[in-house]
Amino acid sequence: MEIKKNNDYELLIEDLTMSGEGVGRIDGYALFVKDTIPGDRVIAKATKLNKNYGYGRLMSVIEPSKDRVEAKCPVAKACGGCTLMAMSYERQLEFKRHLIENNLIRIGGLSGIEVPPVIGMDNPYRYRNKAQFPVGTDKDGNIVMGFYAGRTHSIIPNEDCLIGSDINAGILAEIKAFMIMNHIKSYDENSHSGLVRHILIRTGFTTGQIMVCVVINGSNIPKEDELVKKLLALSFSNERKIASIMVNINREKTNVILGKKCRVLYGTPYIEDYIGEVKYRIQPLSFYQVNPVQTEKLYNIALDYAGLTGNETVWDLYCGIGTISLFLAKKAKKVYGVEIVPEAIEDAVTNAKLNGIDNAEFYVGKAEEILPEKYDKENVHADVIVVDPPRKGCDEALLGTMVKMAPERIVYVSCDSATLARDLKFLVGNGYEVKKVQGVDQFCHSGHVETVVLMVNTKEE
Ligand code: SAH
Repeated sequence: MEIKKNNDYELLIEDLTMSGEGVGRIDGYALFVKDTIPGDRVIAKATKLNKNYGYGRLMSVIEPSKDRVEAKCPVAKACGGCTLMAMSYERQLEFKRHLIENNLIRIGGLSGIEVPPVIGMDNPYRYRNKAQFPVGTDKDGNIVMGFYAGRTHSIIPNEDCLIGSDINAGILAEIKAFMIMNHIKSYDENSHSGLVRHILIRTGFTTGQIMVCVVINGSNIPKEDELVKKLLALSFSNERKIASIMVNINREKTNVILGKKCRVLYGTPYIEDYIGEVKYRIQPLSFYQVNPVQTEKLYNIALDYAGLTGNETVWDLYCGIGTISLFLAKKAKKVYGVEIVPEAIEDAVTNAKLNGIDNAEFYVGKAEEILPEKYDKENVHADVIVVDPPRKGCDEALLGTMVKMAPERIVYVSCDSATLARDLKFLVGNGYEVKKVQGVDQFCHSGHVETVVLMVNTKEE
């Protein structure tokens, strides 16, 4: 059958992409349809056709999948952040498990590996400790705070994102009232005028410390003292309280949310939080895991896989602010971290000191350059290597050096099971064996999943 643009087709959705589009077939031709889930029988209009696949717009659901649920968030569709919200949480977890398994088989050529159920959350809502709300003005002149509609820069009002903290709405309402009262304008991207660009709110889940950071196109906010008073007068449940109020200055014409400079209006220039027993100091610009509850589970698995007894030398590659390094340091002889972003390493060093950890050392640079260099020149040794690369996975030069260093165990933490599978294939081809695989759901309602893999060295010494 020839498929024509703008025609409607009936199809059964059978699969889901990582970005959350349903996939169905018309005579073998794959059509990607947003807002559908496997099991749905739908009518879709063909909107864009490529040679081997195309895109369709959902016109109607003729027969809903048995896994379909009402998305709890009223703006889920328009926002585009929680692409799986119309699917039961159980099915989301099974989808992610299957994705990992499928990639290991298809891309990694690894069969017969058991992929157990993905570790989910008891309550998969309100899990994020960080939210960044863009501030704008609607066509009637009202100040709006919310989210950019998927892939655009128009703001959908939503001050109470369901995966964000329950404290956000009250803080935003107060700032909005303050802006109206004092005739403070929101920032306008097109004319590069107005003041308030974004509101960043971070919460330390274990300490209850809250940070409010107002991102402005200017150097100060009129009546800053009054804003501080108003925010401090807010009360929150569970003994949470504001520990830091800051402005961040961003006068650039840019999509980047935060500028480089911050100024304290109240409290400390940071908040603190714990993952397990390790304390972290978090500034507005610091990277920090956004789902602390699941992060702790993830790191505990990594720690278990690392099999530390106290005598090991560990290399933690792509270490960020040293979260995994510090988590492992107490159980290892020595941990070396490598990370490309210098500011992240500054945080790692600060956090090591804060916790009295003196057996962790950090290097700034590309893992695929630092490790080969250290190995060639200094013949550095590792009992365990941990990698936690960005989505593109590890560089082959790095994998090659890892194999030469021949650690007993490799723990691979991955946010993309496709590149993970590719890298595992290389390691399996070079003497390593996959022992354990475990998925952890860090980003509930999105298509993403974290995976931890334990590999052991099978080569004779
Ligand atoms: N392990 C950390 C962060 C992992 S995210 C944690 O759990 O918090 C991946 C990190 O890899 C990011 O911090 C990114 O800046 C860093 N990165 C990206 N490319 C890199 C490279 N080529 N070499 C070293 N680090 C890199």
